[in-house]
Amino acid sequence: MNNDGTRPARLSNKPKNIRYHNQKLVTSLFRTADVLSVSEISEKINLSKTTVTKMMGDFVARGLIKSAGKGSSTDEGGKKPELFELNADYAYIVVLVLRYESGLMQIDGAVVDMKCRVLHKALEKVEEPRSYEGTIKQLADVTVKMAQDMNIPQEKICTVTLGFAGVCDADNGIIYYPMYPGWPRDLPARADMEAALPFETAVYIDNDSRFRGYSVLQNEENRQLQSIAIISSGTRAGGCILENHALNRGVNGFVGEFGHMVVEPYSKEQCSCGGYGCFESMVSTDTVLRRAYEVCDNYPHSAIYQAAKDKTLEMQDVFAAAKQGDVLATLLMDRVIHYFSILIHNIMLVCDPSKFIIQGAFTQAGDYFLDHIREEVNAFPFFNIKSQLNISFSPVPWKEAFYVGAALYATHRFYNDDELYN
Ligand SMILES: [Zn+2]
Repeated sequence: MNNDGTRPARLSNKPKNIRYHNQKLVTSLFRTADVLSVSEISEKINLSKTTVTKMMGDFVARGLIKSAGKGSSTDEGGKKPELFELNADYAYIVVLVLRYESGLMQIDGAVVDMKCRVLHKALEKVEEPRSYEGTIKQLADVTVKMAQDMNIPQEKICTVTLGFAGVCDADNGIIYYPMYPGWPRDLPARADMEAALPFETAVYIDNDSRFRGYSVLQNEENRQLQSIAIISSGTRAGGCILENHALNRGVNGFVGEFGHMVVEPYSKEQCSCGGYGCFESMVSTDTVLRRAYEVCDNYPHSAIYQAAKDKTLEMQDVFAAAKQGDVLATLLMDRVIHYFSILIHNIMLVCDPSKFIIQGAFTQAGDYFLDHIREEVNAFPFFNIKSQLNISFSPVPWKEAFYVGAALYATHRFYNDDELYN
């Protein structure tokens, strides 16, 4: 298996393998284009129109691709070309993330079609006593219920993709270190989910931040990049590294656990991992707001003084005040920016990505945030090689990122599996 779980590219030039390769190229075209004609496909991948026509006939017969009517332009013969599109209803994907924030544990799920469109959502509180076994059963129950709600036959669910908080070994389907209270270590979550489901399907598990990070590949510009580091943060923090569209997870699944990179070694701020001064604990929105409450008496003229005093302050207020140059707000934000800069320096030294993308709470912080991160990262000439740091906010809203990323990942696996082709 490759690092992203897909099968290694075949080196053989046997006719069957060339055919698989061409078929995969065609389905990959459809995954980024709404509709395509035979001429367009043949031009893009340099195959004869006869070969493409035959392939389309086969795909249509099997239901993978369907006709999308006639195009408006005419080809050489003056005929309007037939257009094709991916058959979004060929199969369905269930994506589920088990969230644990501020003491609340909940299952956030969706049914997605083969064009990665969300068709149906579910949100359920995990039932007490929130044991591992009980939660896996509930995840399976939510899957079955969503399929029933949508009237989707179970055999049409081609994949169930699960996102967990903690250190995950996606290749072997194990959660080594779950971040849920009371759960033991080394949990074979993939096998247990397969056993809990009343039907057979492919089950993928991984750290939820990896799936959220994968969502940036929805964007054409990002797909062209060699490598991307995604940093996500809110009350928790994480991220992932994408290299040539594949998730780099490392041997044990640690790669991308940016929340636990130490940015303040002597801090007394304890992290969910048990360590001190981790990125997650230093930039968590809870920590930022608490800092504001602790120091606000020193800044009675600040625009956010009263809200901080009343403990009703929200991050949006801090972002807005920082943009106006408010002393307390800039103090809070500059500290967050400092920790982001340390993290980015460290990531640059480990994998030197083409681009950094920020996901989560700070995407609302605006240009003030990104400009100051660039400034601080580039303040050391050592890190300022070619140009300003390539950093931007995620194009996918945080609430949608898990669905989009998990669906993109699942469809990537689905359309890259040799078993699909003939
Ligand atoms: Zn930590």
